[in-house]
Amino acid sequence: MVALATYQEAEKKDIQNAYRRLLRHVKIKTDEERKLIRKAFEMSTQAHCEQRRKSGEPYILHPIEVARITAAEMGLGPVAVVSALLHDVVEDTPVTIENIREEFGDKIAMIVEALTKFDGMYDVESPQAETFKKILVSLAQDVRVVMVKMADRLHNMRTLGAMPPHKQMKIASETAFIYAPLAHRLGLYKVKTEFEDLCMKITESERYQGIEAKLKETEKQRARFVSEFMKPLRKEIEELGVKFRISGRAKSVFSISNKMKKKQIPFEEIYDLFAVRIIVDVPKTNEKSICWQIYSIITDAYNPIPERLKDWVSTPKSNGYESLHTTVVGPKGRFVEVQIRSERMDEVAEKGLAAHWKYKGVSSSNTVFDRWLNHVREMLSSPEEDAVNFLNDFRTNLFSKEVYVFTPKGDMRILPKGSTALDFAFDIHTEVGYKCVGVQVNGRQVPISYLLKNGDRLSVTTSKSQKPSESWLQIVKTGKAKSRIRQALKEERKQQGEIGKEYLMRKLKNLKVELTYENLEVLLKFYGVQSSIDLYYGIAMEELSLNRLKELEIEHGKLSIKKEEKPSSPRPVSQRKTNTDKQKPRLTINGEDASQYSHSLAACCKPVQGDEIFAYTTTHDGVKIHRNACPNAKNMLSKYGYRVMKAAWVTSFNTSFVADLELTGIDDIGIIQRLTNVLTNQLRVDMRSFSMDGDEGYFIGKISVVVNNTDQLNFIIKSLQNQEYVSSVVRIQD
Ligand code: MN
Repeated sequence: MVALATYQEAEKKDIQNAYRRLLRHVKIKTDEERKLIRKAFEMSTQAHCEQRRKSGEPYILHPIEVARITAAEMGLGPVAVVSALLHDVVEDTPVTIENIREEFGDKIAMIVEALTKFDGMYDVESPQAETFKKILVSLAQDVRVVMVKMADRLHNMRTLGAMPPHKQMKIASETAFIYAPLAHRLGLYKVKTEFEDLCMKITESERYQGIEAKLKETEKQRARFVSEFMKPLRKEIEELGVKFRISGRAKSVFSISNKMKKKQIPFEEIYDLFAVRIIVDVPKTNEKSICWQIYSIITDAYNPIPERLKDWVSTPKSNGYESLHTTVVGPKGRFVEVQIRSERMDEVAEKGLAAHWKYKGVSSSNTVFDRWLNHVREMLSSPEEDAVNFLNDFRTNLFSKEVYVFTPKGDMRILPKGSTALDFAFDIHTEVGYKCVGVQVNGRQVPISYLLKNGDRLSVTTSKSQKPSESWLQIVKTGKAKSRIRQALKEERKQQGEIGKEYLMRKLKNLKVELTYENLEVLLKFYGVQSSIDLYYGIAMEELSLNRLKELEIEHGKLSIKKEEKPSSPRPVSQRKTNTDKQKPRLTINGEDASQYSHSLAACCKPVQGDEIFAYTTTHDGVKIHRNACPNAKNMLSKYGYRVMKAAWVTSFNTSFVADLELTGIDDIGIIQRLTNVLTNQLRVDMRSFSMDGDEGYFIGKISVVVNNTDQLNFIIKSLQNQEYVSSVVRIQD
């Protein structure tokens, strides 16, 4: 009895100590705030009093620690602290959300409710994508929800040892997949790094421990090196008359491991195990110029590597990160990365979002962050039903670096690197995207697939008759544009499918056939389509001909596919006829076999199987097949729309097409030979012609290649682009 009582006393003391430790980190301004935190602590302690964590300690220590993390490591205030204290109460105890609303008001009730909703996610078999979407929905409500959730996850990760191994793996992989990138995007670099390290500790524990041990071994060595590095700099920096401090912290185990894997080198050969960070304590108005002055002191003493200069002081990253990075050749010829920043920038880098709020009005960079949040809200507002699509799009945006471009009025737009002119159009406005027909970059007309470059000034040309097409999905990079295009296409397909369905019903009625489930199955098989939507759409688009229904057998209102005599027996050789016949592309025009038209591929745009195409009736030369992307298409479609017919490929592997590529790159002796070698020996491509022009070290070449379809063509383009001396490869038309 005595022992138990002592034990309980000791636990009470632990709880009191943890609570006191929490209070030390919260910036409390009013008595009311203090009372509110106290009340939350008491309610939570009371509610969780029966529970214990897997480790055996009282459960309440978990919410207290989560609250401490939000305050101490994320710099959040009392609202987040109160929410964190209460975050598991509704989920696990008799306390209801209404109780919380009564005691703490609407705001905190809302946050706790949002936290509760996606709690217990390790147990519930909900798909990750759905979880992530939920997190983002709440992010758009109040960012603190995600911050507390992240603190919760951080504490759970730190104390994961008590869990069984299979649960550890599950939680770790979920953390690596969702929480680490999210922390990165929110600018919580420290949290992100810790997430990555904690995950690696579980998923690759031996490798982790190996690197960790080596880091420890080399610690003293590093400290010595940093002081040697600073020796010639100290005095000059002191002469600037500003307070500064230096840190030479090693990089995270995870990032070192990554580098070893990527470069296939051992630990000993990694030259940038650590970065020297110089942090100056100066007012906001001076920070930029002081940073550059320090940069110049360093580069006077050591040779910089120019391409490693990263200036996020003039243009902060879109998550708000500001810092000046450079790499120099330090003592003993070793490369040293130097990061120069102010105390304010450092706090923003460590605590992310919360620090932004703190400096709101002072720093212009939080507008960048607001823009990102707006972007999240926008993505959420589009009724994208598929969480996996949504997640993929979002992740692309999380990981990409940015490109900075300008509107005609000079407003800066930030898009993910790799974005195209069409992305820009969608970034301006969804409607501008939908109606985009062309884009001018710095006054020059470019294709909508043009890759944006920093500093481009763009203006978009729109047309009322323009509509998004399937191929746009390949062109755009941003999640926003993708989801909007998909939305429009789906809408379009559904709408147009309605007509197709009507046609089909009418035709079937004439044949006295009902559209039963069985009959629908037969039709799908007969037309070779996946779903009823595809079927209706195909009919509406006249890609599938209802005349072909004649080929079906009808018995008592039941459809079936006629058995051909011997469909699988090989054709007699004589039927193959000539070589030219074999190579002729197979097409349908208005859903019928194209052979009934005198038709040929247009010479202006040279379609290849797989391209989106249309048929155009000429006055003297039969029907010509053009690519939708043909430069003449706009003209033909707008002026002679009545001559245009639908055309579609009938997949065939015996046909061949000629496509023209233009490539540019760095001229060198033997360049023709090298290119020829890649094409003929490596890719086994037939070439029709090859011409090359050179000028001042650059070359422009034109190659005609023979391919079966666009997949092959794209593969060739990609392979050529991968050659180091090639800078661009594009498909051209005359
Ligand atoms: Mn929790």
